[in-house]
Amino acid sequence: MTAADSKRVATWPQPEPDPDSAGFWDATAQGRLAICRCIDCRTWMQPPLERCRQCAGAVEFAPVSGIGTLYSWITVNRQSVPGPEVPYHIGIIELDVAPGIRLAGIIDGADPASLQVGIDVRVELRPLSGGNFIAPVIVVPQD
Ligand SMILES: [Zn+2]
Repeated sequence: MTAADSKRVATWPQPEPDPDSAGFWDATAQGRLAICRCIDCRTWMQPPLERCRQCAGAVEFAPVSGIGTLYSWITVNRQSVPGPEVPYHIGIIELDVAPGIRLAGIIDGADPASLQVGIDVRVELRPLSGGNFIAPVIVVPQD
């Protein structure tokens, strides 16, 4: 059992990768967070696309650190889909390496009073219970 196994998130619906997003899930399965990027003009794209929206060039999934700031978040108080016990928080992180590129995920272990737009956060990859996917989870670093 790895440290990541001990931090499994509660049961969630499983991703259904399509040709555009398969590279993202392939990377997380290998323990890497990677975002779609144009090979030619270096434009980041999230959600991923099959071709670049700027120049129609080929794309790749480029590794990123997962360090960023909290762009927004919500508190889920009423369970409407299978998932962890309520309340829980879903956030959107803006990645430092790719300004304007945002990634959504559950926020783990944060005191709700500490959540503010613009605070430093990072993404950790953790097993998603109920399947074989590794999913991004937003973590608020503790000082
Ligand atoms: Zn391009």
